[in-house]
Amino acid sequence: MEPTPSDKPLHVVSIGAHPDDEISCAGTLANYVRAGHRATVVTMTRGGMGHMTLPSGELKRLRSEEAAACARVLGADLRLLDFEDSAIPETRDAALVLVDVLRELRPDVVITHGPEQRHPDHRATCRLVSDAYYLCSLPLLQSAHPWHGVGEVYFFDAGETDTYVDITDTLELKTQAAACHRSQYEDWLVVHDAGVDRGGLPDFRVRLRERAAFHGHRCGVRYAEAFRAYWPRAPKAAPLLPVNAAS
Ligand SMILES: [Zn+2]
Repeated sequence: MEPTPSDKPLHVVSIGAHPDDEISCAGTLANYVRAGHRATVVTMTRGGMGHMTLPSGELKRLRSEEAAACARVLGADLRLLDFEDSAIPETRDAALVLVDVLRELRPDVVITHGPEQRHPDHRATCRLVSDAYYLCSLPLLQSAHPWHGVGEVYFFDAGETDTYVDITDTLELKTQAAACHRSQYEDWLVVHDAGVDRGGLPDFRVRLRERAAFHGHRCGVRYAEAFRAYWPRAPKAAPLLPVNAAS
């Protein structure tokens, strides 16, 4: 499965709360880049809260570098916004920041967090992207860039899923991309989520592969990433993403 051939390259933009959230759709981003399209990773924060001991400023610098390395692996552009980790406000002003980002980047496809998330930043990002995607299409709402209509919006980590992308050819790149976020995958996520003895948590490479195999099983390929179409509703969403709609 390949992205739909088109004379004009598509632009797919992921918007995550923190550096490393883009890993949920990293195989899909890599698919697009490999097919000659453009991908941009946007993060709302530089991730200044995701560590047990490192000072926040130092952590932000480290995670900004990790995000840049990850984007290079995926062949994606990177845009780091400066909201504060664990304090992303669900305000109109914050949505308007994203309106201008979307109008500047002019994506065909946007992928972001699903609404049912444990981290408040993930829920806030989902809400803000949902608002901004609509607001950015209003010509009379003035900002630094002209209005833009985003073609499709998908949620990752969304619980119920209806859209699957075959990442069999890019799982290795996804794993390499995750390894760039060393402060998270080798440190914070292990300690915070599973305890210092890992709590029986397998290596992240194993977890990523098992999760991709789980989604792959659901759509009849070896490895997949799973999404929920926010707009338009599946299966109308199929033309732009290389998908198998769940049956
Ligand atoms: Zn996050």
